[in-house]
Amino acid sequence: MSPIEGISAVTAATIERLAGKMLIGGEWLAAASGEIQNVTNPATAEVFTHMPSSGASDVDRAVEAARAAFKNPKWAEMRPSHRQRAILKLADLLEANIDELAELESLDNGKPVTMANRVDVRGSIEYLRYIAGWATKIEGLTVDVSFPRPRDGGNYFAYTRQEPVGVVGAIIPWNFPLNMAVWKVGPALATGCTVVLKPASETPLTALRFGELILEAGFPEGVVNVITGSGSVVGAAMSSHPGIDKIAFTGSTEVGRTVGLSAMNRIARVSLELGGKSPVIVFDDANLDAAIPGAASAIFFNQGQACTAGSRLYVQRSIFDQFVTGVAARAAKMKIGPGLDPATQMGPLVSQRQRNTVCEYIEKGLAQGGKLVAGGERPDLPGFYLQPTILVDMPQSSTVVQEEIFGPVLVAIPFDDADEAVALANDSPYGLAASVWSSNLSTVHRLTPKIQAGTVWVNCHNLLDPNLPFGGCKLSGVGREMGRAVLDLYTETKSVLMAV
Ligand code: NDP
Repeated sequence: MSPIEGISAVTAATIERLAGKMLIGGEWLAAASGEIQNVTNPATAEVFTHMPSSGASDVDRAVEAARAAFKNPKWAEMRPSHRQRAILKLADLLEANIDELAELESLDNGKPVTMANRVDVRGSIEYLRYIAGWATKIEGLTVDVSFPRPRDGGNYFAYTRQEPVGVVGAIIPWNFPLNMAVWKVGPALATGCTVVLKPASETPLTALRFGELILEAGFPEGVVNVITGSGSVVGAAMSSHPGIDKIAFTGSTEVGRTVGLSAMNRIARVSLELGGKSPVIVFDDANLDAAIPGAASAIFFNQGQACTAGSRLYVQRSIFDQFVTGVAARAAKMKIGPGLDPATQMGPLVSQRQRNTVCEYIEKGLAQGGKLVAGGERPDLPGFYLQPTILVDMPQSSTVVQEEIFGPVLVAIPFDDADEAVALANDSPYGLAASVWSSNLSTVHRLTPKIQAGTVWVNCHNLLDPNLPFGGCKLSGVGREMGRAVLDLYTETKSVLMAV
């Protein structure tokens, strides 16, 4: 293990305390096998801690703990207002530890600590406060039925109840680790479910620290369990586990398909938030002072490792050169450096593997006739850095336009009119998000219904709100997280019909 430069004593103590442990049934345990796996700092390529490398028997233990907690009257009979208060307390605990959580996230993932603070941690707190409110607002319907009345002159009374779905298996990725944990654990707690949470192997720290804060907030043991280990072992065991009632997955489309099939094989509930290849469509009447920085941040935010990254830029031909030059100038000026340096605007990618994948895409783009107008190089630094990159002269059918790269790589293509822009935007297997930039309301209103995406932003990009449903169509997934819609993912509807 190497000492870590630039972190506070509090963060260092947390890393030491959590090393080699995971949370099952309220206890901090090693894997039954004693096996561990290393965690690497992407800014230095050095291993700085380790976590349990769990096996199927550890998954069994975690599921048993979650099942017991689901039946435990301390949780099962907790009043909604108390669940709400406990979630609010959890949000307060996150707030009391913002700086530490931001450092942990930056260290694990590589992202700039200022962004981790603002987006990952504060966003998680906002979301918990939002979802806490739903705990006291879960409601069913009274329903009029049309059966002939019973002979005794009585009637029928029918209503629905929304009941917790049960034990939730949450499998999350490394790009927004705390956010993704909170997006799944939050609604599970609000609706009275229990959880087995598996963070990504690259980024276990904030999920484990979140587990500590969940216990501190007073949730009974086993309500949330955090289990670490490889996806192909732990994630696969969770997806097929008969004790898990619902799988909530965020990650790649490829793994999501496997997870979904495995869960559906036993008819478990499944929600999938998967990949994206989001188009950014810019018309010549757009406010370029907003659209140029908007398009740059749409792709380079979080080193391009965002499912909603605006990775395909379609610009009306008359302003194409001017626009791309503007975005390239911003890319060239971005300060690349370690996430823990507050001046950093772009940190390293999460891992060597991820950087290799992204670089292979850039090479493929160049081999298919693309031209670089920004970046393309690995800076001469010890971590997994990559310059923000822009490719032009790529046909719509090329690999870099069609496949998700999940890195700071933008492909820019000109279009002539709105019909062509929509056709290009929809020519993708993905349908997560899109943005349209124009000052003409008619253009915007004509376009938004035609775009195949779960979210369409207008004159902005990458803005997510706790009250706005979020999710994808096509290969981008199934189900909507956030907003009122998320409650449907964590509850079952029970219909009750009484002869009275
Ligand atoms: P992966 O799909 O590889 O991993 C996601 C999670 O699944 C990780 O916890 C991983 O564990 C686990 N996993 C891996 N293999 C299996 C398996 N066979 N069975 C069950 N679980 C498994 O994605 P990445 O972590 O590489 O994340 C990047 C991808 O996720 C991108 O494609 C991106 O678009 C997508 N994504 C989508 C989002 C959305 O909201 N739509 C949000 C964020 C990312 P381990 O880490 O141990 O391998």
